[in-house]
Amino acid sequence: MSGNLQPQIAFIDLKAQRRRLGDNLDRAIGRVLDHAGFIMGPEVRDLEAALAAFAGARHCVTCANGTDALVLALMARRIGPGDAVFVPAFTFVATAEAPAIVGATPYFVDVDPVSFNMDPKSLEDGIAGARRAGLEPAAVIPVDLFGLPAAYQQLEEIAHRHGLFLLADGAQSFGATVDGRRVGTFGSATAVSFFPAKPLGCYGDGGALFTDDDGLAATLRSLRVHGQGSGKYDNVRVGLNSRLDTLQAAILLEKLAIFEDEIAARNRIAAVYRAGLSSVAGLQAVPDGVCSVWAQFTILVNGRDLVAERLKAAGIPTAVYYPIPLNRQAGYQNFPSVPNGLPVSEQLSQRVLSLPMSPYLDEASQSRIIDAVHAAVTTRP
Ligand SMILES: *Cc1c(COP(=O)(O)O)cnc(C)c1O
Repeated sequence: MSGNLQPQIAFIDLKAQRRRLGDNLDRAIGRVLDHAGFIMGPEVRDLEAALAAFAGARHCVTCANGTDALVLALMARRIGPGDAVFVPAFTFVATAEAPAIVGATPYFVDVDPVSFNMDPKSLEDGIAGARRAGLEPAAVIPVDLFGLPAAYQQLEEIAHRHGLFLLADGAQSFGATVDGRRVGTFGSATAVSFFPAKPLGCYGDGGALFTDDDGLAATLRSLRVHGQGSGKYDNVRVGLNSRLDTLQAAILLEKLAIFEDEIAARNRIAAVYRAGLSSVAGLQAVPDGVCSVWAQFTILVNGRDLVAERLKAAGIPTAVYYPIPLNRQAGYQNFPSVPNGLPVSEQLSQRVLSLPMSPYLDEASQSRIIDAVHAAVTTRP
């Protein structure tokens, strides 16, 4: 495969999106530079209103990044030492980092082999295991991995039965729906990220929380500005400095205007991948009534590292999300996990491979990727 003369394909094509946004984006940035309200300027308020309306949630509270969004929600609920917070072992580290930061115990549960999302049965096992270990089951943070919403109907029922705060980690899934309901309306609150590679990304770090709970929203608004009370130098609680920059809000307003169209494009591209790859690779199952935003298009293959190497030689970048389950990370290996182990998280971490994905992936490039995957998984060295 050496001597390949075909152009390199982008893993996520942010430059195509920037070309599409064109002068509107430059003008939006220029307006902020001119009014100079860089912190909590008018665009932040406008974006929060637009995002709440888009999601169908009562409140949107923006903040500095998706990790802070998770931390702020746990702080608002006073979750801390002695509390167990159930998280999937197969996710980005921030999901477990947030409970650890507030002094609570992240408790690892397994995921489902076909959706890759939190397994409700494993959550039940975790709740029982935490109680036996003398921890207070306090919260659960399901993750919508690769843009696919978790099994919220079952998870909400379990959370309700055990009095758990359900904080959805929608960092990868903003825009996705379940039976027409958007991410941002499941559980008690939803944390999202606007990291550039997420489906709705800004040009730096950014995040937000969604909730229908007026009291929780008010606490979050205080926490993100140093626990501010009614006046600027009135501090009623210990908080953070975690605001979304006005510039990022202005950029996100422009991107939100084309987001529905991009979600449709992502789903068209995912459908082509699924049709082309189902015979050679395992695919993430999408339940009826669920619409993913395909933050990643991830396949399951045997001999993953060799497949990735062959694709690289063919000019096709790939990524592994995630190669090591969190329970085996040096910083997290002392936190508890379900008594019966995390076999699915272990297996997925060995077999997952994410392919180039963006709303701007053209047909010719996608055919090349599909052909290359066929060649890579069937050819033996
Ligand atoms: C990206 C991500 C986060 C954290 O978002 P940041 O904005 O990078 O802090 C949290 N959880 C998951 C699942 C993510 O993918």
